[in-house]
Amino acid sequence: MANALVSLESLHKSYGATPVLRGVDLSIEAGTFTAVLGPSGSGKTTLLRLLAGFERADQGRIELGGRVVDDTRRVVPPEKRRIGYVPQDGSLFPHLTVRANIGFGLPRAQRRGGRVDELLALTDLGTMADRYPHQLSGGQQQRVAIARALAIEPKVLLLDEPLSALDARVRAQLRVEIRNLQQRLQITTLFVTHDQSEALSMADRVGVMQAGRLEQLDTPENVYRRPATAFAAEFVGAMNRLPGRMGDSGDVQ
Ligand code: ADP
Ligand code: MG
Repeated sequence: MANALVSLESLHKSYGATPVLRGVDLSIEAGTFTAVLGPSGSGKTTLLRLLAGFERADQGRIELGGRVVDDTRRVVPPEKRRIGYVPQDGSLFPHLTVRANIGFGLPRAQRRGGRVDELLALTDLGTMADRYPHQLSGGQQQRVAIARALAIEPKVLLLDEPLSALDARVRAQLRVEIRNLQQRLQITTLFVTHDQSEALSMADRVGVMQAGRLEQLDTPENVYRRPATAFAAEFVGAMNRLPGRMGDSGDVQ
């Protein structure tokens, strides 16, 4: 893709003898929202960790903004990739206020400055600035985690199942808030989830992942209506699979 901001080519990763990513290709255009949808254990978190630079690829290549950040020989460390990462377990610092959590990744001189106030306003957390994580609801905690990831003005935002621990009502509300924020900032976003409706309702493009491979990458509409594989059909699509056999005459029996 000519305009790709993120490009993964033939990415492989094993832990010991267990292959976890088995040749992932993925291009993401600047300013878009991509969801990777797959069941637990399919390799979603590993994919994000490789992109963020917390793990190294065994084979393949990762480019960010046209620059190679991992081709197994050259590897750019996480802090030089300008990536915002919201890990699966949230992981706010419990002993720091909302304000200090958000400013944590900024150079010391900027922590008390306007950037943190901007992020507090952006995520509607202005009145929560001096609270500690345990004084917030689950949804508010996730908004802090997102604000913290955005503080460094990343080129790409990675979100690892940020809604999975929330109750249904908050989850529905945050889906809309995250999508609005992404569009307002025009930030290139990669979101991973095992929740079909989440992926289909939020993303510009949906990747269907199974056992370390991306089986389909398409618009939500096409992934839903025209699943490319039996797995995609069963996991996301509107289709029901019927057993059939093609007869000699070409008719289906
Ligand atoms: P997902 O996020 O889709 O649930 P993960 O990327 O977390 O999938 O994990 C994919 C597979 O890799 C799982 O079988 C998991 O047990 C294994 N795995 C993940 N991280 C490690 C690790 N650090 N060491 C060994 N195995 C791992
Ligand atoms: Mg995971």
